[in-house]
Amino acid sequence: MNQALLSVDEALEQLLSGARAVSEVEEVPTLEATKRVLARPQRSTMDVPPMDNSAMDGYAVRVSDLKSSGAKLRVTQKILAGAVGKPLEPGTAARIFTGAPIPRGADAVVMQEHCEAEKDTVLIKRVPKPGAWIRLGGSDIRKGGEILAAGKRLLPQDTGLAASVGIKSLPVFRKVRLGLFFTGDELVMPGEPLAPGRIYNSNRFTLRGLAEIFGCELRDYGIVPDTLQATRETLRRAAAECDVIVTSGGVSVGEADYVKPAVEAEGSLLMWRIAMKPGRPLAFGRVQKSAFIGLPGNPVSSFVTFLIFVRPFLLKTQGVTEVAPRAIAARADFDWPTPDARREFLRVKWNAQGGLELYPTQDSAVLTSTAWADGLVDNPAGHAIGRGEQVRFLPYAELYW
Ligand code: AMP
Ligand code: MG
Repeated sequence: MNQALLSVDEALEQLLSGARAVSEVEEVPTLEATKRVLARPQRSTMDVPPMDNSAMDGYAVRVSDLKSSGAKLRVTQKILAGAVGKPLEPGTAARIFTGAPIPRGADAVVMQEHCEAEKDTVLIKRVPKPGAWIRLGGSDIRKGGEILAAGKRLLPQDTGLAASVGIKSLPVFRKVRLGLFFTGDELVMPGEPLAPGRIYNSNRFTLRGLAEIFGCELRDYGIVPDTLQATRETLRRAAAECDVIVTSGGVSVGEADYVKPAVEAEGSLLMWRIAMKPGRPLAFGRVQKSAFIGLPGNPVSSFVTFLIFVRPFLLKTQGVTEVAPRAIAARADFDWPTPDARREFLRVKWNAQGGLELYPTQDSAVLTSTAWADGLVDNPAGHAIGRGEQVRFLPYAELYW
């Protein structure tokens, strides 16, 4: 049996070196590009803002006309956003509104709170500095400058930024096709009778939900009976249709664990015992052109191993450049005096004091802990945590992309 004991980092490195990014690129409307991964960098075809414009409602002036405070100027024009004014004659002011182009000749805007309007004139009560309240053309984005990098997962603000320079469609990688199946003769779906000894297939819900969060095109092959033949058949079908196959259960070395022989028969497989808790058994291989990752069946283990291993694997396959989750340092408001010899991922929750509370039982069979938590503390092997200590926290919000 090929069962090396691997550290999380070693396993992750091997796994990621086996991830091949999808190469097909499709052009999608910018309106529909949120959550897709950008395939090519985007440059601006224009200056933003396109011209000098006012940052305030007020009066556009020439500072040289305002020798003293209290200068009175004739108001010769009114410029609204979207309009273009005439050049400003010396000794005059233009009524101007936020976003409206600065008329040629003007070199400052005085906010209306510092002015007193009369009939056709305005009293400027404060002399502005040249450039005051003017947003310079190109000060936000220069024509030709990169606005979005390739490999970025597009957030709403990114598609807004692309739209702000007139980009109406974006090249994105096609979605990763992810196949999921669930091994275990004990599994039934909610709604079916729960005969003695049976359990509900909760992993189907957890893993499917994660697949959706990671933007995959999902193929769900459901529950596969614990036989070599059924497991091989499902693997073949999934391999023909998917880039990545993820399974739950059947990767231990029990009697009813057919994942290993099935993947070996259809492709190649590495069986890993990983020095982590929850977790431990993990299988990684290939079936035809598909990558294969076999997660443990235990619900907490499959959830955590999905986040730690499958998540970066899927992101890399999807063409994302930055796949490591951003951890934050946070204060432990708990003691953890008897750590495991393996690296642990503890289920924790923020408290109102900005520290972390520990779920009272860290047993890997207790799925409640994952639902209660706000994320995971990544605790080094054998490390006892004392109350008040800074720990490495992986919030779900960071792990969910
Ligand atoms: P296995 O990895 O197949 O040995 O399963 C380990 C444990 O996880 C057993 O107690 C299984 O009953 C349980 N389990 C396996 N698959 C699932 C699933 N899809 N949903 C919930 N529990 C599961
Ligand atoms: Mg099983």
